[in-house]
Amino acid sequence: MTMLKTEVAVVGGGPAGLTAAIALARAGVKTALISSPPPQEDHRTTALLLASVMALEALGIWQSCSDKAAALRCMRIVDDTGRLLRAQEITFNCGEIGLDAFGYNMQNRDLLTALDNTARSLGGSLKCFDSAATSIDIGANDVTIALASGDHVSARLVVGADGRRSLCRAAAGIESERRDYPQTALVFNLAHTRPHHNISTEFHTPQGPFTLVPLPGQRSSLVFVTDPEIAQAVAALDEPALMEELERRAHSILGKFKAEPGRGAFSLAMETARRFGASRIALIGEAAHVLPPIGAQGLNLGLRDAAAIAEISVDALRAGEDPGSDTTLHRYEALRRADVTSRTFAADALNWTLLSDFLPLQGARQLGFFLMQTIGPLRRTVMREGVAPSLPRLRLMRGETL
Ligand SMILES: Cc1cc2nc3c(=O)[nH]c(=O)nc-3n(C[C@H](O)[C@H](O)[C@H](O)COP(=O)(O)OP(=O)(O)OC[C@H]3O[C@@H](n4cnc5c(N)ncnc54)[C@H](O)[C@@H]3O)c2cc1C
Repeated sequence: MTMLKTEVAVVGGGPAGLTAAIALARAGVKTALISSPPPQEDHRTTALLLASVMALEALGIWQSCSDKAAALRCMRIVDDTGRLLRAQEITFNCGEIGLDAFGYNMQNRDLLTALDNTARSLGGSLKCFDSAATSIDIGANDVTIALASGDHVSARLVVGADGRRSLCRAAAGIESERRDYPQTALVFNLAHTRPHHNISTEFHTPQGPFTLVPLPGQRSSLVFVTDPEIAQAVAALDEPALMEELERRAHSILGKFKAEPGRGAFSLAMETARRFGASRIALIGEAAHVLPPIGAQGLNLGLRDAAAIAEISVDALRAGEDPGSDTTLHRYEALRRADVTSRTFAADALNWTLLSDFLPLQGARQLGFFLMQTIGPLRRTVMREGVAPSLPRLRLMRGETL
């Protein structure tokens, strides 16, 4: 049994937690990473926007997984609602804002492997515990975490990266606002007979977006958001009927589909923690915010959380301050709130305009898309904001080390 005393403990070995732990350890902060394996294999992919890629590059992670990612050069949104008030098709080209790519799409498991390998190669400054945190005891000067293995870790700051049902959030007494959507996301990875030309296509249907995102080769990931009953019926189809159904919904733009092994189904919800930090615990990733998968924001936000808490803690320690103090946690809240609120609002609004039968709302959506497609400066501003937000820029997100 170990009793480890450290500066920072990160609970949760998903992509947000691993990134935070690596960033802290690389900056010389004594860090513990406490992670239990996820309950099921993740077959999702993540469209990593440019600033996230720059952060992974600065941390020496991107170099070991970039060959598994496909560049996203063009993003297309097609109104497939069949409604009277339909929005104009909108196309975002990275060349319009002088970029080679908006970002890169890769399978979560490839990203996790690269993160995990990097974390385990760091030795001294990052101690990895492959065990679940079972209880968290908050003291005046530190927090003690008990692990299922019988080990204990105490730290001045705990980074809660333990996902939607966060033990850290509960231990800090932080409540959250949650709304469930009447939608399920089905996730598939597909091989196809026509090339994707690095174009991601989002078909907006009255039940939610049907999004094809390029993967390396003639392959794409599909996130099919729909009514839970439709999702159940589609998921129950045999392979040939399923492929036919998906091809029909994709308007055959990528030709014939062949499913790769492994799928996923996710009930959609929006959830935001009322505070991102309290009692020596800072929340990052889905412990802090859950968004519907529209516009590839969720993990990109989570990586910005990781970059922010690492930067703030490193700066606090270098200034001889306590990384878990209320002052540090307030700094974190101030740095992250506007970004999370604006992205959550945008994803939520876009989702509801799809689901709503309310004509003025559909009209507003149609007008918004029309303006974006026809007014170049507006479209370019939206693209720049999507790729690298103009909110206070974090050092890692600029590709710098801490
Ligand atoms: C269908 C779908 C598609 C998506 N596509 C995109 C996209 O293209 N781009 C994007 O940016 N985002 C996307 N997202 C969002 C993204 O997948 C999530 O934001 C991201 O996976 C969350 O990462 P995380 O590290 O915060 O949490 P998780 O991945 O949930 O990791 C939490 C980890 O903590 C561990 N854990 C939990 N409790 C404990 C405990 N007590 N002790 C120790 N460990 C614990 C878990 O086992 C897990 O490993 C998508 C989401 C969905 C549903």
